[in-house]
Amino acid sequence: MQTKKWRQMKNEYKVPVAALLRNPGSRQEANFEVKAPSGIGDSFYGVKEGSPVGLKAVLFSMRSGLEVKGEISATEEGKCSRCLKDIKRPVKVEFSAFMPFEKEMEEDSPMPYDLDEDGIYPLSGDFADFEGLIRDELALQLSMVRLCKPDCKGLCPECGADLNEVENHSHEKQPDPRFRKLADLKERMTK
Ligand SMILES: [Zn+2]
Ligand SMILES: [Zn+2]
Repeated sequence: MQTKKWRQMKNEYKVPVAALLRNPGSRQEANFEVKAPSGIGDSFYGVKEGSPVGLKAVLFSMRSGLEVKGEISATEEGKCSRCLKDIKRPVKVEFSAFMPFEKEMEEDSPMPYDLDEDGIYPLSGDFADFEGLIRDELALQLSMVRLCKPDCKGLCPECGADLNEVENHSHEKQPDPRFRKLADLKERMTK
């Protein structure tokens, strides 16, 4: 299997595409699994470095480089921002990108590409390098709302109890008025 060959290479994110580049108009499929690169999310929430990332892509050869379309799947994990419970859920991203020849990136090229532009990842020699693409696409896709469930009630600010687990949790400073008289009575009696 080709997957194995790529894994054994020094940089597992690089896919050899020499034959494809020589034949504009042709296409190549790439399906492989890699370890997630660092830098997707932060220490509280993200795709953990080294966790499995699946990539399915079709690479189309063009005169100026490769057009790439595909899907990335991974697992995002972290803590619920309200109740701090651990969250782990699958994330899937569809992407399309362009991988121009390195010379197309140069300033005197007829049409230089701007690296700051989304979805531009220059080829590195005869290899398509997916590391930056995987990092960018997953980072963009990370859930903005980091909750264990949409209506997570969070923790009690006074005692830290998980309000999802207990019903009618409260720390009322004012006793129930119905008990007020009773409390007063009790106070008088103990004096
Ligand atoms: Zn929660
Ligand atoms: Zn409480």
